[in-house]
Amino acid sequence: MIVEIQNIMSKVKANNPGEPEFYQAVQEVVESITPFIEKNPKYKTHKVLERMIEPERVIMFRVPWLSDKGEVQINRGYRVEMNSAIGPYKGGLRFHPSVNLGILKFLAFEQVLKNSLTTLPMGGAKGGSDFDPKGKSDNEVMKFCQSFMNELFRYIGPDTDVPAGDIGVGGREIGFLYGQYKKLRNEFTGVLTGKGLSWGGSLIRPEATGYGCVYFVQEMLKTRKESLEDKVCCISGSGNVAQYTVEKLLQLGAKCISISDSDGFVHDPYGINHHKLEYLKELKNVRRGRIKEYAQEFHCKFYEHKKPWDIKCDIVFPSATQNEINENDAKKLIKNGCIAVGEGANMPTTAEGVKVFQDAKILYAPGKASNAGGVATSGLEMTQNSMRLSWSREKVEKNLHEIMIAIHEQCVKHGGNKKYVDYVKGANIAGFVKVADAMIEQGLV
Ligand code: NDP
Repeated sequence: MIVEIQNIMSKVKANNPGEPEFYQAVQEVVESITPFIEKNPKYKTHKVLERMIEPERVIMFRVPWLSDKGEVQINRGYRVEMNSAIGPYKGGLRFHPSVNLGILKFLAFEQVLKNSLTTLPMGGAKGGSDFDPKGKSDNEVMKFCQSFMNELFRYIGPDTDVPAGDIGVGGREIGFLYGQYKKLRNEFTGVLTGKGLSWGGSLIRPEATGYGCVYFVQEMLKTRKESLEDKVCCISGSGNVAQYTVEKLLQLGAKCISISDSDGFVHDPYGINHHKLEYLKELKNVRRGRIKEYAQEFHCKFYEHKKPWDIKCDIVFPSATQNEINENDAKKLIKNGCIAVGEGANMPTTAEGVKVFQDAKILYAPGKASNAGGVATSGLEMTQNSMRLSWSREKVEKNLHEIMIAIHEQCVKHGGNKKYVDYVKGANIAGFVKVADAMIEQGLV
């Protein structure tokens, strides 16, 4: 079995040079799936895992645009269409200077399994650009988005590929992207999700990833007869996922004592209350300011270029970016009594960090399970668009909650034994089976 894993990994490395995040994501899946495949040889015969690692299509393109000073700017755009066995490609767009092909392949690969877990018919994709929206004017962001869509529109469509937001792509960017798609195609369709409410968006979509992650952790805690009430939580990030994680935790009686951005983190020992959360949303979504300003406003300490994992807490919700918790961070968290991890971000814990959490037998939820509420609600947005209907807040949130419970159940089914639920194994196997069976039934395409 070890030889099988090594063979697959050598091939992945040879075929995808210089893409460490992609190797990391693949290695984790290959390690947890291989024993299952050994017991179910049809997947081996059809080389399903090997096929899943190879994207169905990769699109790379030039994105030229003019800055406010009239200077020509050039960025690179991407869309990795990874797998369409169970539905149209679906996955977010990330605009961040760190974006490259390897990062998007890792995200697209994770997305395939995540989308399968949601129980909805969605394939997996991811895209974006090395464009940095930070510090750009609204006009510059619009120019960039229009130029990006001038190329991407050829490859997407409501039944083909339906992008959404991710880091650096929120409501403003989705609006500009959608406007340009509509102009180019002369069609009003559900080609993007995360849209504004008056033009096809779904209630609860902005909240969905954060709310869903908290619901997932609530389910994990139930397996140990625990609840979120009075739990002290550390959150990283201060964007879409972090904000709504804080909001749901507040509703359920937990206390949130940290938030961060790429400049550092704020420790608020008294806890983020509703008033402070409203300030945070205005700061980040309207004024587009820095998290340091929260510390100044509420007289708490700001730690420059540091992460919040030294603080004593019960539960952590890493909600910024990949590999933000390393082995040492994980050890410190365990030493300080952390009992659960709910990953809002994608792959925020390194492989060594995951091992520390699992060896300590704490409740550890990998992002592909715990942050699947975002794409699940995007799936619900697609359904509403097809029906030309808008569901109520209550209806969408009830659906989201039920989906998160169903994802948790699948993880327990495939990753559980009497003593410990391995949520990584559970999520990977449950996500894999549905896609793999569809691929076999559809033949070699
Ligand atoms: P946002 O752009 O809204 O917020 C991202 C936050 O993370 C910001 O606070 C940002 O700080 C911080 N951040 C980003 N990159 C880094 C970095 N390299 N180092 C430190 N901090 C960083 O993105 P989202 O909230 O949408 O996404 C956060 C995570 O959740 C990502 O991993 C994303 O893939 C994942 N996710 C998002 C979903 C969604 O529905 N939006 C769905 C599922 C997963 P700064 O402003 O300084 O850059």
